[in-house]
Amino acid sequence: IYILAIETSCDETSVAIVRDGHAVLSNMISSQIDVHRRFGGVVPEIASRKHVETITVMIEQAVEEAGISLDDVSAIAVTQGPGLVGALLVGIVAAKSLAMALNIPLIGTHHIAGHIYANQLTAKIEYPCMALVVSGGHTELVHIESEGQFKLIGRTRDDAVGEAYDKVARAANLPYPGGPHIDKLACEADEVVAMPRSWLEADSYDFSFSGLKSAVLNVVNQSKMKGNEPNYPAIARGFQESVIDVLVGKAMRAVKEYDAKQLLLCGGVAANKGLRAELTARCEAEGVPLLVPPMEYCTDNAAMIGAAGYLKWKQQDFSSLDFNAHPSFSLEGWSVS
Ligand code: ATP
Ligand code: MG
Ligand code: FE
Repeated sequence: IYILAIETSCDETSVAIVRDGHAVLSNMISSQIDVHRRFGGVVPEIASRKHVETITVMIEQAVEEAGISLDDVSAIAVTQGPGLVGALLVGIVAAKSLAMALNIPLIGTHHIAGHIYANQLTAKIEYPCMALVVSGGHTELVHIESEGQFKLIGRTRDDAVGEAYDKVARAANLPYPGGPHIDKLACEADEVVAMPRSWLEADSYDFSFSGLKSAVLNVVNQSKMKGNEPNYPAIARGFQESVIDVLVGKAMRAVKEYDAKQLLLCGGVAANKGLRAELTARCEAEGVPLLVPPMEYCTDNAAMIGAAGYLKWKQQDFSSLDFNAHPSFSLEGWSVS
C-alpha cells in the first residue's frame, strides 16, 4: 500500500510516497535554512509562510517522482506534533484536504516516532530495542518493547543536545545551524579543553546540557577578558567529548538493563561524526547491533513519517478529519494499541 506522507513541523517542507512502511518511492525536501540563517534560528511566522508557499508543489513532485497517481494512494500520514503549531497546521490542512478529496484515511503521526522509524526505511527493527533520539528539540532514551510501543526512560531536563550545539556554535561565531561546524572543529582539534560531564543521579537516564553549555561560555569569556582569542577547536573538542561520553554511556547502560536486541540512533545529531564513531566502537565491543539511518533520513523528512504512519495503518487506527495540531504531543500516548 502507498502512503503519502507530509512533514512540516519545523523548517523543512517535505512530502514522500512510502510503500508498505519501508520502500521510499520519493522523498522531496525543501529546506528553509537559508531564509532563517540570518536570524540565527528558526522564525516561526516565516516558517509557516514558507510551508504555505511550497507544500502544493512538493505534493505534486512527490507523486510524480514516485511514478504513481494520486488515485493509487491508500492513506495520508501527516506530522501532528511535536513542533511549531503554525508550521504543523500547514501540513495538517493540506493532509485533510487531500484525504477528503481522495476519500482515504488520515493518520496523525508523531514526529519523534518518525525519527525512530526512519531506521525501518533501510533496516529491520527487532524488539525489544532501545532508541537514542538526538535532535534539535529532543534528547531521549526510548525503550520499545514491541512494534510501536514506546516508553520514555530518559529525557533532557534542559537543553536538547542539538540546541546545545547550536548555542556553543553561536558563541564561537559560527553560522546556524552550528552542529556540523562544531563537529568539524572538534574532529580537527589537536588540543582539548577539559569540560565537566553531567551524569545526574547514578540510576538516572535523564540528560542535562545547560551546565556544560555554561562551562563552555565561561572558558570563551575568560579567554576574551585576558585579551586572547579563545582556542575554539580545543573548546569544541572538550564540549563534544563531554556530550558523547554521557550520551554513549547512558545509552549502553540502558541497552544492558533492558536487554535490548538493537540500539537505534536517530535525529539530526545522529549526523555527528564523533558520536557515530564512538557508538559504533562501543556497540561492536559489546556485541550490540547498531542501527543508524542514512543522513537524508536523520534530519527532518516525510519518508520517516510514512514509516511511522504505517504502524497505525496496520491497526487501521485513523485520525478523524477534525484532529488538531499538537505542539507538545507525547510519544508514549501515540503508541499503537
Ligand atoms: P526535533 O526533531 O526535536 O523537533 P529538529 O527536527 O529541528 O528537532 P533535526 O532536524 O532532527 O532537529 O536536527 C537538527 C539539529 O541537529 C540542529 O540542532 C543541528 O545543529 C544538529 N546537527 C546537525 N548535524 C550535526 C552534527 N554533525 N553534529 C552535531 N549536531 C548536528
Ligand atoms: Mg530542521
Ligand atoms: Fe526532527
